[in-house]
Amino acid sequence: MWAMATAIERWRHEPGGPSCHLEWNRWTDYKAKDGWTYPTGQPMAPLVINSVREALALPSDLARVARAPGREAGVSFYAAWGLLGRTELEGSPRRVYEHESRRWVLKSGDPLSWAFDHAGNVAMALRLIGGARQPRSMVKDLEWVADRQAAGRFSVPTTAKPWATQVQLDVGKSLRKVGPAETGRALLAELLNPNLGTIRRVIDPSAGRSRVDFVALVQVAYWVLAEAADGHNVRPCAACPVLFVAHDERQTYCPPPPGVRESRCGRVYRERERRKAESRRAFEHVLP
Ligand SMILES: [Zn+2]
Repeated sequence: MWAMATAIERWRHEPGGPSCHLEWNRWTDYKAKDGWTYPTGQPMAPLVINSVREALALPSDLARVARAPGREAGVSFYAAWGLLGRTELEGSPRRVYEHESRRWVLKSGDPLSWAFDHAGNVAMALRLIGGARQPRSMVKDLEWVADRQAAGRFSVPTTAKPWATQVQLDVGKSLRKVGPAETGRALLAELLNPNLGTIRRVIDPSAGRSRVDFVALVQVAYWVLAEAADGHNVRPCAACPVLFVAHDERQTYCPPPPGVRESRCGRVYRERERRKAESRRAFEHVLP
């Protein structure tokens, strides 16, 4: 039955998955200034995303930033993917004063807090999607949201003005009334829906079929999550603490960032196994 096909099955039918388009500028370095991150290095080859397959690592890489906030995590994310795209969503570049050259320049940038809130939002959505496999961690997440909401300190970052919105669901009440599974699904909708509304579906004239068009990278993360929302192919990585969206049943490690062929976690695991085997052989050698 077509409607029952999981995302993995669908991606098998269409190599690379549903088509989409984003051509995204990246730079060699980034700096924070007045609460915003701006590119400061040289322009690199743009990142081109034409299918969901090419962006499957994006939600996990954002979840990694949410787990380890700080300059290092942010810079390694930005080096692989570029900015999340607040300026592109706003529609006009920002005027930034450059002390070195003593002039005003037009730049793209991300507010630090907005970008970090999206990393956290994507990470939580990913955990809610994978919640069926990790029910205890889902209950912890839902209780955390309920506490923050009760204190008036929970909002969802968005991809349109005013850049954040309140959650309609009373998470604490829902947890008591209908339990974690249903509450998790309802909260997931509230985390994703405000970020899917700005994504456009258009007909690609050269291919004669529809594709999804993005203005900014952050929208791609939400689209990948929406494609994976049934949870069939979201699973924990065998070597690190993040969940990932798999494109293949046999995949056990979180996928590599764009332009890298091998998964970092897969490489680390194989390296560890190789060293273990080597020391085992050395040990056997000295035994009589
Ligand atoms: Zn991993």
